[in-house]
Amino acid sequence: MSLANGRPYLAIPGPSVSPERVLRAMHRSAPNIYEGALVEMTDGIMPDLKRIAGTKHFATIYISNGHGAWEAALSNVIAPGDKVLVPVTGRFGYGWAEMAQGIGAEVEVIDFGLRDGMDMDRVAATLAADKAHKIKAVLGVHVDTSSSIRTDMRGLRAALDAAAHPALLMADCIASLGCDRFEMDAWGVDVMVAASQKGLMVPPGLGFVFFNDKAAEVRAAMPRVSLYWDWTARATPEFFYQYFGGTAPTHHLFALREALNMIHEEGLEAVYARHATLAEAIWAAVETWGEGGPIELNVADRAMRSHAVTSLRIGAPHGTALRRWTEYEVGVTLGIGLGMSTKDDPKGDGFFRFGHMGHVNAHMVLGMLASVQAGMSAIGVPYGPGGLDAAAKVIARG
Ligand SMILES: *Cc1c(COP(=O)(O)O)cnc(C)c1O
Repeated sequence: MSLANGRPYLAIPGPSVSPERVLRAMHRSAPNIYEGALVEMTDGIMPDLKRIAGTKHFATIYISNGHGAWEAALSNVIAPGDKVLVPVTGRFGYGWAEMAQGIGAEVEVIDFGLRDGMDMDRVAATLAADKAHKIKAVLGVHVDTSSSIRTDMRGLRAALDAAAHPALLMADCIASLGCDRFEMDAWGVDVMVAASQKGLMVPPGLGFVFFNDKAAEVRAAMPRVSLYWDWTARATPEFFYQYFGGTAPTHHLFALREALNMIHEEGLEAVYARHATLAEAIWAAVETWGEGGPIELNVADRAMRSHAVTSLRIGAPHGTALRRWTEYEVGVTLGIGLGMSTKDDPKGDGFFRFGHMGHVNAHMVLGMLASVQAGMSAIGVPYGPGGLDAAAKVIARG
C-alpha cells in the first residue's frame, strides 16, 4: 500500500507549483503573433514585471531558463577580457561565475562558504584594492537556492559605495522574485535577472533581464553584443517580434499574464507576507525537531534565511532516505541537497531542501512538514517533539 495517491505536491525549489488558473490560461490554440490580443497583452506585461522588480527602467524577456538569463545579462555588459567579481554563497554563485568565464571574462571569486553569508567589509576591501577599476561588474545572487542564504543586496550596494567603485551591481533574483522583497531601483541594483518557474508560478521557459540607464550606457560602449542576446531592441521594440528576437513565447505569455494578475489581486506586500509567515512556520518546526535529533536549518541567522527555499542538514544517508520516503509514501517531493556535498558525504545524502515559492499556502506547508515528521519516524531518525505544534502556532498567529 502507498498513501501517496491523491494530489502530489512538488515541494522542490523550482519549478514550483503552477496554479490551475495559470495552466488553464495556456490551454488554447496558437494566437496571431503579428497583431491582436497577444500583442496588446504583452505591452501590458512589461510594466507589471517592472513593478514586481521595483524598477522604472528597462525589462526584457528571453525564451530561456535562468541560465539563459544569466548569459543574456552578462553578454550585454561583459566583453572578453573584462573582469567580474563574484562573492559566492552557494552553488548558484559559482554557476553565474562559470557563465561569465564562458563568455571570456576574467573572474575573481570570493567564496563565503555555505552557511555564513557575505562579509561585506571583505567585499568592500577587495573593491577598494582594485584601484584601476578593472572590475566591471559585481555579480550577487540574492537568494542562493543551494544554501538558501539570502544576501542583503543593499549591503552589497553599500560595499561598492564604500569603495567608491563604479562597477555595475548585478543581482540574480531567479529564486527570490515574487517571494523575498526586492527593490531594484531603491537598492541601487543596475542589472537583475529572473526566470518564470519559481516565484512567478509559470512553467520554465521565460528568462527576464532588468537593467537601468547606467547599465544601458555600459552596453552602448560594448565593442560587440550578439544580436540574439542584445537587450536594446527587446527593451524598446519598434516591432512586436523584437521583444523576443523572433517568435513570441505565446503560451508562456498567457500564463505569465495570469500569474501577474494573481500577484496583483493578492497584492505584492501580501505575497511577501505570506512567504514570510510560511517560512517562519518551517523554521519553527525544524528548530523544534532539531532539539531532539540531527535535523538542522542550514542558515542559523534568521536575517539571512530565504522565504522561498530552505536548505536542511540531517546527516547522510537520511536526507536521501527521507526524500524517497515522502515521495513514494505520501506524495510530497522534496528538493535534493544541491552543492552541499562534503568529503564524508560526496553525494550530498545528508542534505535536502524545501521549496516554498509562489503558489503555496498554509495547508501545503503544514502537510509537507507533517509528512517530513512522519518520514523521520518511518526511517528511524530521532527528532524533538512539538515541531508540528510550533509550526501550527505560527500559522494560527497569521
Ligand atoms: C533556479 C536558479 C538558477 C538557474 O535557473 P535555471 O532555470 O535552472 O537555468 C539560477 N540561480 C538561482 C538563484 C536559481 O534559483
